[in-house]
Amino acid sequence: MSYPLEPNSAQMSEIGEAALAFVADHIRGLPDAPASDVEGFEALIDRFRAGPPEVGGELAPRLADLDHAVSKSFNTAAPGYLAYIPGGGLYTAAIADFLALGVNRYVGLWAASPLLVQMEDSVVRWLCDLFGFPPESRGFLSSGGSMANFSAVVTARRAMLPEEFLDGVIYVTDQVHASVTKAAALAGFPKRSVQTVGTTPEHRMDVDALRVMVRDDRKDGLKPFMVVASAGTTNTGTVDPIAEIAEIAELENLWLHVDGAYGGAFQMTQRGSERFRGIDKASSVTFDPHKGMFLPYGTGALIVRDGAALRFAHQSQADYLQDLAPDSDLPNYSEYSPELSREFRGLRVWLPLQLHGVAAFREALDEKLDLARHVHESLSEIPGLEIPVEPDLSVVAFRLSSTGANDDELNRRLLDLINASGRVFLSSTVLDGRFTIRAAVLSHRTHLDRIDEAIDIIKSAVTLVAST
Ligand SMILES: *Cc1c(COP(=O)(O)O)cnc(C)c1O
Repeated sequence: MSYPLEPNSAQMSEIGEAALAFVADHIRGLPDAPASDVEGFEALIDRFRAGPPEVGGELAPRLADLDHAVSKSFNTAAPGYLAYIPGGGLYTAAIADFLALGVNRYVGLWAASPLLVQMEDSVVRWLCDLFGFPPESRGFLSSGGSMANFSAVVTARRAMLPEEFLDGVIYVTDQVHASVTKAAALAGFPKRSVQTVGTTPEHRMDVDALRVMVRDDRKDGLKPFMVVASAGTTNTGTVDPIAEIAEIAELENLWLHVDGAYGGAFQMTQRGSERFRGIDKASSVTFDPHKGMFLPYGTGALIVRDGAALRFAHQSQADYLQDLAPDSDLPNYSEYSPELSREFRGLRVWLPLQLHGVAAFREALDEKLDLARHVHESLSEIPGLEIPVEPDLSVVAFRLSSTGANDDELNRRLLDLINASGRVFLSSTVLDGRFTIRAAVLSHRTHLDRIDEAIDIIKSAVTLVAST
């Protein structure tokens, strides 16, 4: 049997209930599911290669296929997932997406659904308030941090540089997220436009070095216009000295963009907002609700202090849209972001905030900070391990104390052993030129029990590597 394009009531219920049961079962099974499993996917891949059938069919076998496909993956939704930046995925956000896609209203221009646009804008306004931005600030929900950083670079370019902008210089550190460099390239800058400022031994931007570079570049006829600080680097969660960078930015007339894609959510906590001191002086902030708010992938945000600058960079004119109302108190999101037609991302953030309340997010984030501190303290006590930097937020980097020529190889062995447990999944990076393992604690599903298990697994793996 194939379904008509507009299923009848009984069919809608049948499909919907099957999908709900699928998701509920999946979430119930997460604590016992492997933290990562892609082994043997090759044997299954042919099944997923086929094109669509001419005549459709039942849902059940497709759900079974989906279940198979899901099972062969990094389990980014599981409590033991401590690799890269964990995702999470709130159930209430999945429901919000179902509702948003189910009604499928248009939110690119406010006149088409003013109250839905107002709901989304209330989320953006909440973010602006959270970061201490003024009333004239604006923002939008993007598909992620990469797109938010891209819009930030373009907005800064349009606000600070003439049409001929190739002399512009953006300052970053070697710990900046790769999406910033990519954003500069996408925005049309040559490679030399992105300059790397030195860091302190804790991997924070060296503000004195920044000051000197800006002055020297200006003397050389270049046009310094932007500096990017990280509110939590992806490598180690390290926070740049935002307040000091803000002072230089003000003095030197630079656009200060703070990349808080990973760390931004900690602004909701006392400890986070203290670490981010000065972020209210930023020109723009990137924030990924699909990281620190545990929402599904595809949810980023950019807020910009000068809302008019954001609009100036993204606005365009189209005759066929002449019937629609101009930008007002309610934003035409198409004039503030790269997209025209867009999904109703607002509901995906709005509904979880309404159902759980801000306090639930704050408490979960405080728990992550406590857990990271616990990981840090516990790993510090394991002989043979070194912790290169103290965690500012919820990423803990560690490695075997230098073992000489095969140092990187041994650390890779250590990582493989840890991940072979199936209970936790960690990833690595290069820090100080050395292979370094990192544990990122960010999922709403990760609690003390799994963290203690992770510490035991790491301890045993260190012993095993040391004994061979
Ligand atoms: C994840 C991340 C990004 C990129 O965000 P996406 O949502 O993956 O596109 C940018 N900056 C930092 C610091 C990040 O952690």
